[in-house]
Order: sequence, then structure tokens, then C-alpha cells
Amino acid sequence: MRARVEAAVAAVPDPELRVLSIGELGMLRGVSVDDGGHAVITVTPTYLGCPALEFIKADVAAAARAAGATGVEVVVSLSPPWTTDWLSETARAKLADAGIAPPGRLSLPMLAPGCPRCSSPDTTELASCGAAACMALRRCTGCGEPFEHMKAH
Ligand SMILES: [Zn+2]
Repeated sequence: MRARVEAAVAAVPDPELRVLSIGELGMLRGVSVDDGGHAVITVTPTYLGCPALEFIKADVAAAARAAGATGVEVVVSLSPPWTTDWLSETARAKLADAGIAPPGRLSLPMLAPGCPRCSSPDTTELASCGAAACMALRRCTGCGEPFEHMKAH
């Protein structure tokens, strides 16, 4: 039961980054299911004040019930805070496939992101806030195309 609930919950898509699931984002911190089928699911939002949090909680609860949980409690954990270093390699590859430059590693020196289309390292920032709060808009000098960059935080 626990494995089924965890797999269902991990596959819930992020409301803002539809290409990624909350499991791939590293937002899913814990899943426990007791003998009565009551699930407690711990999630950490990708940034504070995330307006999508209520959607995520509702989607997580629905996914757990669909997987057989008789009751669901969604716990929001803010400590330790989510960072872009929790993104899985799969998540980084999916972002690049969607034309979004993945964030740099906080543990490595910050480099300007390369173009996700042509891989040119020569890019400039157009706006520090894109469609979502965690996105910057950049343009590639190589192919001239604008692209979104998920900022490391
Ligand atoms: Zn380019």
C-alpha cells in the first residue's frame, strides 16, 4: 500500500512546471501509511509563498485516495527549505527538453546558463522574472531565441 501511494503521489505534476512531477522536483519528503490505510504525506514547496501550494495539496490528496488510501493528511514542511539542488537528473533533463535552462548547482561556481536549443554559452538576461517567480528570461546570442532559466535558489 505504501509503495503504491508513494508512486501515485510522486507522479503528481507540479501546477506551474507541468513537465515535472513533484517527485522529480524533490518536493515529496515523506510518505507513511498506517494499517488502516491512513496516509500522511510530507511535501516541501519549491519556494515560500508558492501560490500553487493549495493545488499541490489537493492533487496529492486525490492521488493518494485514488491509490487506495482511506484518509490523507498532507503536511507542509518548510525546514529544511527546498533548493534547486534537490532537482533530480531526470528533472533537469526534462526542463532542458522543454526549452528551460536548468538551474546551476549551488555547490558549484555560478555560470551563466547555456542555450537549451543550440547549447551556445553566449546568453544574456532579458528579465529576472519570467512567467513564474523562479524563472528568468534570457536570450541566446548564438541563435537569437529567448528562453527561460530556472534560477538556482
Ligand atoms: Zn541558442
